[in-house]
Amino acid sequence: MLEAVGERTKVVFVCNPDNPTGASLGAAEFGRFVERLPDTVVLAIDEVYYEFVRRADFPRSIELLNDRPETLVLRSFSKIYGLAGLRIGYGIGHEDLIGYLDRARHPFNVNRLAEAAAVAALEDEEHVRETLAVNAQGIEYLTRELTALGFEVAPTDTNFLLVRAGVGVYDDLLRSGVIVRPMGGFGLPEHVRITIGLPEENERLVKALRSLAPEAP
Ligand SMILES: *Cc1c(COP(=O)(O)O)cnc(C)c1O
Repeated sequence: MLEAVGERTKVVFVCNPDNPTGASLGAAEFGRFVERLPDTVVLAIDEVYYEFVRRADFPRSIELLNDRPETLVLRSFSKIYGLAGLRIGYGIGHEDLIGYLDRARHPFNVNRLAEAAAVAALEDEEHVRETLAVNAQGIEYLTRELTALGFEVAPTDTNFLLVRAGVGVYDDLLRSGVIVRPMGGFGLPEHVRITIGLPEENERLVKALRSLAPEAP
């Protein structure tokens, strides 16, 4: 990405943790990238999966704002808080940068109901705790079961898994009533992205995959 930055580059988006790989960058790696990024380039850090991160050395991006005001940290209520239908998230940045965004944004782009729900969500620590527990358990279960079925499962810092399941598995699963995401559009025709579900949903997926791979244990 650094190599792709040129004279005309205005903004760089870094998705951390990344969608659809589930991978994340640690503070050291991320720091090396930021150090070399010219300060004429706005750095937009997409952290919509922030709350799911499990690695201890995740970059403290908000602290970066002091040294690098040309930075915007983006978070969302669509993921861990489950409010995607209300269309609300937030950005944290220097007031000058936010001022430019304010000039260009549509008026009333966040409605009052969404705002009330978001504020309530921030206080709902039990929901976050429970979601993290269900997610962690689901990651462990699915990683174990899918690996046993012979699939390659990428480590994740999100609420989904990137799985090398083979060409056609997306369609086969669809026929058995399980919807995952095909990754052909990302240049990964053999992969699917699987959102971690409730335990019974995860079990249903594993059963469906097992019936597709009768030769596996
Ligand atoms: C879901 C998602 C978004 C969009 O979030 P919204 O707040 O629902 O618009 C942005 N970036 C990534 C990486 C996502 O996965």
